[in-house]
Amino acid sequence: MPELSPETDTFIAELDAAVEAHMNWTRRILRCAVLRSSPGDDVLAPLAHTLCRFGGWFIAQRPHFDAIDAQAAQHVDSAHQTMHDAIRSICDDVLAGRPGNVADLEAYEHSQSELLGLLARFKTLILSNAVRHDPLTGLPLRYGIENDYTLYQKESRRNRSLLYIVMIDVDHFKRVNDTYGHPVGDMVLRHLAGSLKRNLRSNEPLYRFGGEEFLWLMQCNSVAEAEQSAHRLLAAIRTTPVPIPDGQPVTMTATLGLARVGDEEELSSAIKRADAALYEGKHAGRDRYVIARP
Ligand code: GH3
Ligand code: MG
Ligand code: MG
Repeated sequence: MPELSPETDTFIAELDAAVEAHMNWTRRILRCAVLRSSPGDDVLAPLAHTLCRFGGWFIAQRPHFDAIDAQAAQHVDSAHQTMHDAIRSICDDVLAGRPGNVADLEAYEHSQSELLGLLARFKTLILSNAVRHDPLTGLPLRYGIENDYTLYQKESRRNRSLLYIVMIDVDHFKRVNDTYGHPVGDMVLRHLAGSLKRNLRSNEPLYRFGGEEFLWLMQCNSVAEAEQSAHRLLAAIRTTPVPIPDGQPVTMTATLGLARVGDEEELSSAIKRADAALYEGKHAGRDRYVIARP
């Protein structure tokens, strides 16, 4: 199992608990039928589907489910309600001494298998998404860059905009670890990643490239615009001190290496040039951007 963020871990645990609880229902129906004992209020209440643990959690997490697959989320909602309605009807009949209804039993069986199938699919989607993202910062990892790079390169060619690879390396990050310890270093890194993301346009991809290095795919209309964006990002980092538990906030800076991507250029070549520019920036004193030669 790959390392997951705490949020994803909790999400998966809730999904597993939901699957288990709803599989358990077959046992509850059987007990109700054989022993004529009440299956419990969470089954018999008219709004039981909103009262069960999964129902409450699902309502709270609905935006998250919708973001993954809104249509499947709607199916989860209806299968879950159908399942609750069917089991309530079956148990009501049994407790009243009436024979159950075959349509209810079939609706129960069908909606249960639909619900379990949908939840298993959500679990697969969430896990495959999680391994492509960095658990510390939530940013995508470098594995998706190649694909995105090709798409953006084509788009820039088509609409005659410029595409830059921007390597961002935090300055003197080792000092943070040395001074405050690695766990605080992690918090600082998470905070910096958040500041970077907030200062880019929402559609501009930002990846955690490794360690304290990030890669930004910047689309713009002119060299001057690229310089402005780089300048703005550096200023935002410099002027947003990072909170430290039990200490004064620390001012951090970063150095940027920009490489304007050629129409036919391979990703590895553009990264190499951005890296060389970054290296130049470090040597020139950090907290600056350098534009690579073509
Ligand atoms: P420079 O300005 O030259 O980039 O200096 P630097 O200290 O940032 O660079 P260096 O490459 O010497 O050190 C980077 C440090 O970043 C060392 C490494 O332990 C730390 N680091 C990388 N990834 C993580 C992480 O996920 N968490 C923490 N806490 N530290 C990390
Ligand atoms: Mg580095
Ligand atoms: Mg560094």
